[in-house]
Amino acid sequence: MGHDPERPVLVSACLLGKACRYDGKHNQDRVLEDHLAAEGLRAVPFCPEEHGGLGTPRPAAWIEDQDAGAVLDGEARMVDENGRDVTAEFQRGAEGALEACRTSGARQAFLKERSPSCGVANTHVGDQVVQGPGVTAALLQRNGIDCEGVEGRRE
Ligand code: SF4
Repeated sequence: MGHDPERPVLVSACLLGKACRYDGKHNQDRVLEDHLAAEGLRAVPFCPEEHGGLGTPRPAAWIEDQDAGAVLDGEARMVDENGRDVTAEFQRGAEGALEACRTSGARQAFLKERSPSCGVANTHVGDQVVQGPGVTAALLQRNGIDCEGVEGRRE
């Protein structure tokens, strides 16, 4: 059975070379780009933190405590390195990613590991990298989107 050559997948924009990281850099991943091309997948680039209204560059941010699910449920906050509450921006970014999946028809996402938004297996809680998704990955997973974590920067 062949695959749909136009099957859309959501991709963290920084993995595709967009300089949208908090530090103004990108995580372009040529192995991922080759994989998408070989599988006939159409990348839908998306940066939740920019969509949520956080500019680039921006202060580093993390889940204050508990986990991403608690942030989605309004029981935990996102804070940045200056102590600013950026919960609403992260929630808006996650909702934008889910909307981008719905409008494009994407049922799968390739997301940058360890990001407080995009991390899939690991993310930042306080000053620690811990197991568990970031806020965007958590919302996509709650809605049945298959999320795959990508380290980034592979040649
Ligand atoms: S990891 Fe996600 S939120 Fe961070 S720069 Fe990349 S796309 Fe944007």
